[in-house]
Amino acid sequence: MRLKIGEHAGFCFGVKRAVCRAFECAQQQLPCVTLGPLIHNPQEVARLEAAGVRSVASLDEVQPGQTVIIRSHGVTPQIYAQCEARGIPVIDATCPHVAHIHQLVREFSASGDAVVIVGEPDHPEIIGIAGWASGPVFILPTREAALAASLPSRAIVVAQTTLRRDRFEAVLDVLRERIPDLTVRMTICAATSQRQQEAERLSREADVMIVVGGRNSSNTKKLLETCALRCSRAYQVETPEDVPQGVFSREDRVAITAGASTPQWLLEQVKARIERSAEGAND
Ligand code: SF4
Repeated sequence: MRLKIGEHAGFCFGVKRAVCRAFECAQQQLPCVTLGPLIHNPQEVARLEAAGVRSVASLDEVQPGQTVIIRSHGVTPQIYAQCEARGIPVIDATCPHVAHIHQLVREFSASGDAVVIVGEPDHPEIIGIAGWASGPVFILPTREAALAASLPSRAIVVAQTTLRRDRFEAVLDVLRERIPDLTVRMTICAATSQRQQEAERLSREADVMIVVGGRNSSNTKKLLETCALRCSRAYQVETPEDVPQGVFSREDRVAITAGASTPQWLLEQVKARIERSAEGAND
């Protein structure tokens, strides 16, 4: 069996940075919590909890003396204001790429542009970005939504950082037709497009494609969609136990990719499990 892990598989820069900050806090024995799960990976979240960093759903759950870690998705300005008003210290692990989108939205919105965000309306990153606008905001997940919306004549459009580029382009085609004064900012993160492009290449070459990531991770779902289009044997696994049994043979070329929230140690465990499964199948 030829088995390879993609170079761009797993933690992106922003997630790695946020996770490192949380473990640093734990090491320094600083009482801290994350506002929402730091990443969409239950196994890594469990490791953080074991180190003493748990997640809270709202600021109401923060105890006196605790510091709040803002995750890489970022938050609305209201959250910072509430922390300040309540005297809650903040460690801001917002990814710099996301913080840049906040700044764009804030500036363009303040100068009178409507803000169009292409992405999933209920994703925390999108909720955070929308919060930086001081005027009208349109969140459009699809081309159909763009066709149906009652759009302004002047707007800036940005994308969810993990969006597939073809989805962004499909919505952009409609917006260019319908918004006469449109400023386009391509805010899809390079880490995501590199991972997507690598997954496309690997899934064209592989007999079996394994996508490792949390079931509630949107970028893992998108990676699986990408791989399934090109490889008929594409599987998503969250843990080594999910690795399908009896599907590998020694001749197979197997490739592994992973969503941005997947730690390296989990990738290695999945790889080892696949190798064992293939050995068992050929005994
Ligand atoms: S995907 Fe990109 S924008 Fe999002 S956290 Fe990772 S590095 Fe930052």
